[in-house]
Amino acid sequence: MSKIVVIGGGAAGMMAAGTAGARHEVILLEKNEKLGKKMFITGKGRCNFTNACEIEELIENVVTNKSFLYSAFYTFSNTSTIQLFNELGLREKVERGNRVFPQSDKSSDVIKAMSKYLEKNNVEVRLNTTVKDLLTEDGKIKGVLLENGQTIECDGVILATGGVTYSQTGSTGDGYIFAKKLGHGIIEPKGALIPLVSEDSFVKELQGLSLKNVSISLFKGNKKVKEVFGEMLFTHFGLSGPAVLSLSSIIKEEGSYTVRINLKPALDETTLDSRILRDFEKYANKSFKNALDDLLPKKMIPVIIELSGIDEYKKVNQITKEERNKIRGILQNLTVSIKGKRPINEGIITSGGIKVKEVNPATMESKVVEGLYIVGEVLDVDAVTGGFNLQIAFSTGYLAGISC
Ligand SMILES: Cc1cc2nc3c(=O)[nH]c(=O)nc-3n(C[C@H](O)[C@H](O)[C@H](O)COP(=O)(O)OP(=O)(O)OC[C@H]3O[C@@H](n4cnc5c(N)ncnc54)[C@H](O)[C@@H]3O)c2cc1C
Repeated sequence: MSKIVVIGGGAAGMMAAGTAGARHEVILLEKNEKLGKKMFITGKGRCNFTNACEIEELIENVVTNKSFLYSAFYTFSNTSTIQLFNELGLREKVERGNRVFPQSDKSSDVIKAMSKYLEKNNVEVRLNTTVKDLLTEDGKIKGVLLENGQTIECDGVILATGGVTYSQTGSTGDGYIFAKKLGHGIIEPKGALIPLVSEDSFVKELQGLSLKNVSISLFKGNKKVKEVFGEMLFTHFGLSGPAVLSLSSIIKEEGSYTVRINLKPALDETTLDSRILRDFEKYANKSFKNALDDLLPKKMIPVIIELSGIDEYKKVNQITKEERNKIRGILQNLTVSIKGKRPINEGIITSGGIKVKEVNPATMESKVVEGLYIVGEVLDVDAVTGGFNLQIAFSTGYLAGISC
């Protein structure tokens, strides 16, 4: 039996500690006053803790360094996650897009299950304990130095300090500093799954409006880069919501990006035209601005009218076919120019981090420092929304837990 110190009581650290605890003496160090502060706010407080898709799809939904995660996903898959939680007394439910949530809709229940796992495997949890540095000798882990000056000697360290976004939850990038000092390369951390900024005036007018079942395409110049379907939100600074966050992962460098929103993706040009015509016949004697209630959310009507350039008081029975085509075009291609991304701290996850080529994918052990294991978001891996990021934390955490 060896002595293992796990740094960070988030999803990856708790999974690693509980798993390692089955064979070793394990101490879990967390700088916050409680475990899983970030986990608590995941999935809008409901915690979308994995995705019930095929393993190949898990891999496909990883944006950065897919192949590094093969071993981790195949050793501890989404099915393993659900099974472990079931054993710990947590029941799951599967929602749209195979997203898996606790039946109770409470992220706190997922944290409780993880705490049970730690207890079951006799992990010693030390809260309010910040690690200041890692101690090594001859390229081998020897222990950790705490902020209060104490040291803990150990045979292995699992580094699970998370990324650098939503830093109020404790993820302040400490792991990058520790790893860099020991010779690891770091890919510059950036905010990913992050809201987008637009200065188009109509976007501000629409703030607070949430759209469901729209299709959103990201264009770089005139080239379509990606299209997603789902939910989005207009805010005071630009665009947010799940579909927009997914698109943001594709934007790697600044450039002239635009987002084109198809407000009626289920209707082709002819069907949408007939639909507009039907409404115009229904409201034949009304003015343009009073004929759009069936077609659009209230807040959107003045914006669409302005973009169409058609007089809002024009009687709809006088609107020409050409004008109708223009309206249809706007509904299918509402174009928003993107100025950039919101500040890094607003990223749901961090892209970048400790270089994965310096970590053994079959064990999560560092190739630079013997006895150091690196797991979760502190690594240069990230995925789209849908439960994939927590699954990365669980799979890598588990793999380190059985390998140390
Ligand atoms: C708003 C929001 C919603 C999200 N929703 C989802 C979702 O529904 N599904 C999904 O899959 N993913 C979601 N994510 C992403 C997911 O939460 C993260 O990918 C995941 O929590 C990463 O786990 P981790 O254990 O690697 O890091 P973290 O959860 O960040 O844990 C790291 C821990 O290390 C501790 N720590 C850091 N430095 C030190 C130190 N020096 N000493 C001691 N302790 C330290 C921190 O306090 C923290 O508790 C969401 C993220 C956010 C911000």
